[in-house]
Amino acid sequence: MKGKTIGIVGGGQLGKMLTDSAHKLGFKVVVLDPTPNSPASLVADKQIIGDFKNKKDILKLGKLCDFITFEIESANPEGLKELIKKGKIVHPSPEVLKIINDKFRQKIFLNENDIPVAPFAIIESEIDCENQAKIFGYPFLLKARFGAYDGRGNFLIKSKKDINRGFKKLSGSILYAEKFVPFVKELSVVCTRNKKGEIITFPVVETIHKNNICHIVRSPAPISSKIEKKAETIAKEIINKLKGVGTFAFEMFLTKKGEIFINEIAPRVHNSGHHSIEAFNMSQFEAHIRAVTGMPFMKLKSNSKSSVMHNILGDRRGKAFHSQNHKIKTGPLEYVHIYGKLETRKERKMGHITVLGNSLKQAESKAKNLRKRIKI
Ligand code: AMP
Repeated sequence: MKGKTIGIVGGGQLGKMLTDSAHKLGFKVVVLDPTPNSPASLVADKQIIGDFKNKKDILKLGKLCDFITFEIESANPEGLKELIKKGKIVHPSPEVLKIINDKFRQKIFLNENDIPVAPFAIIESEIDCENQAKIFGYPFLLKARFGAYDGRGNFLIKSKKDINRGFKKLSGSILYAEKFVPFVKELSVVCTRNKKGEIITFPVVETIHKNNICHIVRSPAPISSKIEKKAETIAKEIINKLKGVGTFAFEMFLTKKGEIFINEIAPRVHNSGHHSIEAFNMSQFEAHIRAVTGMPFMKLKSNSKSSVMHNILGDRRGKAFHSQNHKIKTGPLEYVHIYGKLETRKERKMGHITVLGNSLKQAESKAKNLRKRIKI
C-alpha cells in the first residue's frame, strides 16, 4: 500500500485523526475542506480548498487519490459516482451516504429493517405539527432532515406555544418530528466493517450530552452485560443491513425498561470513539483506514479496564490560547489532543482528553482535574 493516497472529504478533527492513522499505515493523505489551515491540513500531505458539495471539487480530490473516504457525510453524490466509474475506491458508498444524510430517510430505513426507533412523522407546516402533538403528546422534537450536527437542527417542543418558535428557529430546513424518548442513558456503539463483512465492535460506551453536545464518553458503559449484548447486536445488524464499509457509530437511547432505540447513525468515525486512540491497540481511525483500503484488521485488544474522554469545548469567542496548552503536564495514562483550530467559540470542539484507569471512577476523577487545567 506504500505510496497510495487516501482522499478525505472534510478537514476537521476527525480528518486529522484519520490522517494520523493513515500515515502510520504508510498512506499519503489529501483533504478537501473549504477552510484554509483546517485541523487536518496541519498533518495531511495536501489540502484542496474546496466545497464538499461541489462536483468539480470532489473530482479534483479524486484525481489525486486512490481511495476516497469521509469525515463528513455530505459530499456531492454525482462526483462520487463518477469517481467510482473511473476505478477509484469510495467508502462508505454514495448509496449508504444517501440513506444516512437524510435523517428522516434514515429512520424509514431503520423502521423497515425492524430496528427500534422513536416514532417519527413528516411535518410540513405548523398545523401538521399541532396535529402530530395530539398523537405524540408533549414534549417532542422538531428536527432538520439535512445537515444537522451536534444538536444544531433540533428543537424541543414542550408546549403548543413552542411550535411557532421551533419553526422560526429551524426556518429554511426541511423538517420532521420525533417523539421524545425518556431515556436513562445515551449509549453509542462504534463498529468497523470491511468489504468481506468482518466487523470490529468497540465496547459500548455511555455518552453524556449537555445542550445536545457530547461532553463526556465513558468506556465501557456502566450497563448490564445483557444490555451491552443487545446494543452490540443492534449495531452489527444495522451495519450489515447497510453493507457499510468503514467505521460507523450508532447512537442509542436506553430506557428504564431496558429498551434500546436508535437515535442516529453516523457513517464515519465519531466523537464517541476518540478514546480508542489510547484505549485499544487499534483505534476507530486505524480500523477505518484498514477497512476502506482493504487492509486486514488487527484483533482488538484493550489497553485498560476503563477510559474516560472529555471534549474540550470552547467557552468564549476569540483566538484560542494554544501556547499555554503545550506546557500542560500530564500524568501517566493521561492524553491531551488539541485540534489546532485558531478561533474558539462557545461549544466549539477544540480538542479532547482521554484518561485510562482501572475503574471509571478513577479515570473520571483524573479527567476532571486534567480538564480544569486546560484553557482554550
Ligand atoms: P441528535 O443531534 O438528533 O443526535 O440529537 C442530539 C441530542 O438531543 C441527543 O444526544 C439527545 O440528547 C437529544 N435527543 C435527540 N432526539 C431525541 C429524542 N427523540 N428524545 C429525547 N432526546 C433526544
